[in-house]
Amino acid sequence: MRYIDIRSDTVTLPTPKMREAMFNAEVGDDVYGDDPTVRKLEKMAAERVGKEAALFVPSGTFGNELALLTHTLRGDEVIVDANSHIILHEAGASAVIAGVQLRTFRSKNGHPDPREIESLIRSENIHFPRTGLICLENAHGMGTVIDLESMKKIHEIGKSHNIPIHLDGARIFNAACALRVDAREIAQYADSVMFCLSKGLSAPIGSMLAGTKSFIEKARKGRKLMGGGMRQAGIIAAAGIVALEEMVDRLCEDHENAKILAKGLESIKGIEVFKDRLDINMVFFKAKVDGDDFVSYMMNRGIKINPEEDGEYRFVTNKDVTRDDIYYVIESVEKYFQKLA
Ligand SMILES: *Cc1c(COP(=O)(O)O)cnc(C)c1O
Repeated sequence: MRYIDIRSDTVTLPTPKMREAMFNAEVGDDVYGDDPTVRKLEKMAAERVGKEAALFVPSGTFGNELALLTHTLRGDEVIVDANSHIILHEAGASAVIAGVQLRTFRSKNGHPDPREIESLIRSENIHFPRTGLICLENAHGMGTVIDLESMKKIHEIGKSHNIPIHLDGARIFNAACALRVDAREIAQYADSVMFCLSKGLSAPIGSMLAGTKSFIEKARKGRKLMGGGMRQAGIIAAAGIVALEEMVDRLCEDHENAKILAKGLESIKGIEVFKDRLDINMVFFKAKVDGDDFVSYMMNRGIKINPEEDGEYRFVTNKDVTRDDIYYVIESVEKYFQKLA
């Protein structure tokens, strides 16, 4: 049975072209620097975000945590959004791997206030930790994008205090589509950027960490330390190349589908869509329902959804979900709420 899976965009399956590229990939031992396919992907990735160099890593979490490890010293403080992936969804790794302390700011629906970030930077004092890094997330996991003006301001704040910026750009190409700019224009305001090949871009495995040549050289050693030195990794890098060549531009389709989905859900009595968080391929809403019953009803109709998190449901459009699937999802939810009424 074919399911419509709107739990995430990580559920996207590799395309036939990716499987073919994987089958035919020329490979070598990448820890020796011998894998031509990984090298090609790293070069392409660096170019796509306008950085000197890039490194292939097993996951987005790995890339973020490696960035923290590479930028900071043990005991540094890292300024980061309280609602970021690094805080919420990385199992406390920054304390374990980089050994840093996190100091959080509160973005409004993912939009940071540059002045608040600046106010969190530590001055020189025997009692204080050193501020070692500022992290941003764009596109933001709340379904929004940070405008370029704010990115620029925060970058300037970082520069004036000599503090680097790391961008968690897991969905940077979604942000680029939403802002109608090239991903380089976003990444220019960060010293390092991580992005995922395995989300909307549909590759089976992998993320990229990009930055200056010397940063990436240092990160390469950190990746080994973290156990991420992969051998004939060209097998999976090959799918990443196809992802960058063929899957970037189509992300806008997912955004259009999300807007249609949002509109459909909005018109259902009992559902409250968060309309100011519809920038990318996600729809967040509140609904007063029995969560388990709703999830299993949808499953019976062949639709996989996640249970609510923090009182919100999140539906995510992706390349394996067609426009017709979207209409079917809306119709299914409609029927469920009619039954309740
Ligand atoms: C998914 C995601 C990550 C991490 O990706 P994994 O590959 O699942 O570890 C990091 N940041 C954000 C914003 C994400 O959405």
